[in-house]
Amino acid sequence: MRFTFVTLFPELISDYFEHSILGIAKNKGLIQTEFENPREYTTNKHNKVDEYQVGGGAGLVMMPQPLMDLLEKHKDKHIVFPAPAGKPFRQNDAVRLSRKKEVLFVCGRYEGIDERVVEKYADELFSIGDFILTGGELASTVMADAISRNVDGVLGNMESLSEESFNDALLEAPSFAKPKDFRNLSAPSELLKGNHSKIAELKNAMAMAKTKFFRPDLYRKYRAQGKR
Ligand code: SAM
Repeated sequence: MRFTFVTLFPELISDYFEHSILGIAKNKGLIQTEFENPREYTTNKHNKVDEYQVGGGAGLVMMPQPLMDLLEKHKDKHIVFPAPAGKPFRQNDAVRLSRKKEVLFVCGRYEGIDERVVEKYADELFSIGDFILTGGELASTVMADAISRNVDGVLGNMESLSEESFNDALLEAPSFAKPKDFRNLSAPSELLKGNHSKIAELKNAMAMAKTKFFRPDLYRKYRAQGKR
């Protein structure tokens, strides 16, 4: 899986993929990252990438020429625009996009990107939440991280994916690190008895209770699927 980030600030993203699980995945060649800077595609004298808005309005917008010339070279890729107006990015999107060979993110800055660029090149628009970030770099990194976890081989134990939150509409059951007793606080004894079906039952009950408490919206969805 190769991620291409179109960004004026590649260094905001690149370091993230050099560490921990994603750093290992990159070293193994399971994921690759490349960067394209719109400033290198400018044809104006001062390498400007932003312009005042047609008809006025607060702030500058990323102008079409550098981005269009850049994106013409990458039309074969799956092109994602992080944007507050996009559909909410969810776990099922992360799983779906992990099956693509090439995903390209176009990171906006300033007041965003000229709408004609979005109309012409976007395969999808995603929002990572109902708030406004300064730029698309964090949003793209968040999505690329979530996608990478689902690429074959990236997690040492792919089984852990199936137990994770959102996989079946429930949050993951609470987890406890060894030792079982720590400063007068105990993890559930049932987890140590080696009875796998009892442990699974307990984890499911804990996952349900946790989801009901923290995310009643997800819990209702889970129950609506006829699950108990
Ligand atoms: N003026 C735009 C608006 O009101 O919708 C906000 C532009 S924002 C300051 C600049 C860039 O940050 C956007 O083009 C997008 O790439 C990114 N961005 C900001 N908030 C985001 C969010 N919630 N999800 C995804 N991307 C976001």
